[in-house]
Amino acid sequence: MTVKVFVDMDKCQHYGQCCFEADDIFHLDDDGKLQYVAEADDSRRDDIESAADVCPMQAITVE
Ligand code: SF4
Repeated sequence: MTVKVFVDMDKCQHYGQCCFEADDIFHLDDDGKLQYVAEADDSRRDDIESAADVCPMQAITVE
């Protein structure tokens, strides 16, 4: 099973809170822009959902 991750880049303000919850999934690149893994192992679901919860812009969708 995998988790599908989508970040709405129109909403994302690149604050980086999500990165603290799941730093293997979300990170800010050298330009400060969010990069993320679009599909992850199901074992990462809890941390990815935590990242979605802390996002101040509610930009992260988890399936
Ligand atoms: S917490 Fe939300 S707004 Fe901030 S970088 Fe992550 S997805 Fe973007």
